[in-house]
Amino acid sequence: MAANNSNWKDTLVHLFALATRLEGEGQYNLAKLTRAAADSLCRQSAYPIEIPADKDKLTADIRQTIETLSHLDVSAELLSAMKQSVDTFAQGGLPLITTAPHPYVCRICGHLTLTPPTGPCPACGAWAETFQIFMPNYWFDALEPPAALECLRQTPFVVEKLIEGLSDETLNRIPPDGGWAIRNTLGHLRDAQGVLDFRVNLFLKELHPVLESKAVFAWAKNETERPPSVHDIFEAYRTSRAETLRKLESLPLSDWWRTGKHEEFGTITLRQQVSYFAAHESTHLSQIRALRD
Ligand SMILES: [Zn+2]
Repeated sequence: MAANNSNWKDTLVHLFALATRLEGEGQYNLAKLTRAAADSLCRQSAYPIEIPADKDKLTADIRQTIETLSHLDVSAELLSAMKQSVDTFAQGGLPLITTAPHPYVCRICGHLTLTPPTGPCPACGAWAETFQIFMPNYWFDALEPPAALECLRQTPFVVEKLIEGLSDETLNRIPPDGGWAIRNTLGHLRDAQGVLDFRVNLFLKELHPVLESKAVFAWAKNETERPPSVHDIFEAYRTSRAETLRKLESLPLSDWWRTGKHEEFGTITLRQQVSYFAAHESTHLSQIRALRD
């Protein structure tokens, strides 16, 4: 954090106020630079702060944060959702959309609601469309259909290059932090690909299918039914991917806007689901690169 705490806070808040004024003047490019400065300042300050990954410590941290927030002007609805969600997290679960709906924040006055706005902001009267929705992550809208398809097509080639010539010892080596070996990452890509293919089939067969919440991340170290060789895992991944691509490539573009009911993320389109999986894979490529080097 900058040397002068209160100066830092004032500058940050001023950047938000300034950006809103600039947008009002139609100065969208100046406004975007201002908002980017505010976002960058916050992330830079957050970056060096170490939050423990241990579940109990993390639970305590979230509960303490909720307590702090309860003394500030934060929506009671949001705090209640956070409390219920942290209880689920503490029991080892994933909060579903019914417990943690998407928040909407009024871009004009900051009013927050967990109900999709259909009318003017109850606090400042601003038009309903000004509310900003907070999605669980950016992957849902990261890639338009042609880019998502290209990504899904290319990743197996990138992965193949990354693991080319690596010994079994390197592929199975657990890093010093006790995290995933390359084998686990590949198993994870294979699992995620399996979920994607299953979901694409559901979207094709049913109208508004239910998409079950899957903790795919937690399966990576589970060796049940996993082929013994890393290359067999990779081949299973590549074969399944080719099958998914065949189905997606033959779809009319309008079908990418078919919707499903995701238990964890709410209503999502096939377009968002494919974008999600394609963008998610990219995050694991750098992980394999780091493990290899
Ligand atoms: Zn408002």
